[in-house]
Amino acid sequence: MIKIENLKVIFGELNVLKNISLNINKGEVIALIGPSGAGKSTLLRCINFLTKPTAGRIIVDGFVFDSEKYTKQDILKLRKKTAMVFQNYNLLKNKTALENIMEPLIIVQKKQKKEAEKTASNLLAKVGLIDKRDSYPKELSGGQQQRVGIARAMAVNAQVILFDEPTSSLDPELVGEVLSVIKQLTLEDNKTMLIATHEMKFAREVADKIIFLESGHIGSIGTPDQIFQNCKNRRIRKFVSQIA
Ligand code: ATP
Ligand code: MG
Repeated sequence: MIKIENLKVIFGELNVLKNISLNINKGEVIALIGPSGAGKSTLLRCINFLTKPTAGRIIVDGFVFDSEKYTKQDILKLRKKTAMVFQNYNLLKNKTALENIMEPLIIVQKKQKKEAEKTASNLLAKVGLIDKRDSYPKELSGGQQQRVGIARAMAVNAQVILFDEPTSSLDPELVGEVLSVIKQLTLEDNKTMLIATHEMKFAREVADKIIFLESGHIGSIGTPDQIFQNCKNRRIRKFVSQIA
């Protein structure tokens, strides 16, 4: 589903991603863990072309994006196949919860208003917020806003959902509700998901595979048990034990 080949990102003098290659199968849930500054957000952002890779290829669902040879159309194609959930929700302030979800349905998927409304309502129900359909973002808690953000990402109907630390802006008591919505989605939908997170317990529970990113390269990749229980790499053991 996702294939990354020799991906490099250089910011000025800084090698942020150093020749990353990676294969992710359809329907897999991948947790991306690692120290701050390791390049987790940068990797997710490249897959959505929010960050321009310096070199390498990104192949999503058969579509090849070559960072050294692409058109504007290619960027749109890549973006249609991937949806991003941001740390800070990025909701439109002057639109209600329902309208925020309708927006990509109408603009990206060219759906009629009535149909968009129906799909958006279903998605809101899925994240447990149907009673908040007419609320504006400022009337919602952080956890509720993030659940709208997740519903909006689902609305794009992309096969790949990228989550960039979806709970790190939330007060601790709101983290659980968002994680349980994501967990539910991993069980119900056969979407491929990449989740950058510092929530180790959650990563262990939901992920099929864990990628430990350090200083711009893949330090280790494996099942949760391989990473959390039997990891031979001392740096990873230390990281996991500090944060868990
Ligand atoms: P965190 O856990 O803190 O979110 P991260 O693993 O997501 O960290 P990134 O945000 O990908 O890390 O950043 C990787 C490195 O790239 C950092 O050293 C960061 O300062 C640098 N960086 C990120 N974006 C830019 C940019 N637009 N310009 C210059 N440097 C950048
Ligand atoms: Mg980050």
